[in-house]
Amino acid sequence: MSINATKTVILEQGYAYQPSILLEGEPLKEVDKFCYLGSTVSNNLSIDGEIDIRIGKAATTFGRLLPNESEGNEVTTYNFPFITRAQWKARQSKKTLPLPSPVPYVVIHHSYMPPACHTSVECYQAMKSMQNFHMDDRNWWDIGYHFAVGSDGVAYEGRGWGILGAHALHFNNVSIGICLIGDWTNTVPPAQQLKTAQALIAAGVDKGYIKSDYKLVGHRQVRETECPGDALFYEIQSWKNYSPFPASVDDLPQVIQLGR
Ligand SMILES: [Zn+2]
Repeated sequence: MSINATKTVILEQGYAYQPSILLEGEPLKEVDKFCYLGSTVSNNLSIDGEIDIRIGKAATTFGRLLPNESEGNEVTTYNFPFITRAQWKARQSKKTLPLPSPVPYVVIHHSYMPPACHTSVECYQAMKSMQNFHMDDRNWWDIGYHFAVGSDGVAYEGRGWGILGAHALHFNNVSIGICLIGDWTNTVPPAQQLKTAQALIAAGVDKGYIKSDYKLVGHRQVRETECPGDALFYEIQSWKNYSPFPASVDDLPQVIQLGR
């Protein structure tokens, strides 16, 4: 048994995109296909016992790095790149309320501002600026969205699954809100951004947070807004489970807003 092969298997079990794991803001360094975790590993180890010791350490370190240090959100894995609140260093929520799950709706947004982000640095900054704006200017409890997706193809955890959002006035208690970071009025997001957003919805169904027969709508269908931009709104009409109803806020009954 080669130690590299063994370790690669371990890393790929849960972390297919392991270069996105950050330690104190720095990506973990990859050494001979082994993610460097603070202990020195030579390349020629071949004793099973030694492998177990090393992998035991690695697993423990991953457990500590992954989002136990966030606000109790579930530790979970995805088949697309995913960054937790802890990893982008989100501020703590002022308050949370549970979201009754599974929800029957998914609401798609664009950020308009900040503009599209294409690198981790830009997207972390976009998440922070949206959270600051929502918490400080709008006095919400947290960033409004459950998740945001960057043009880097990475999904960024906002409030996360199972927590009441503040993204679609009449629909907050029945929906998951996903923001595609950028202004998608005249252009559609890059393919990897669209793909990750759709994979995120599928993951929400798999994990029981979104009903399998959910309805997908654009924000403008439930509130008077141009969100998610003309180009993105046209794009999502071809997505799975897109629902043309409600066509506008006029179709909605009066609903009392929960949370903020
Ligand atoms: Zn919106």
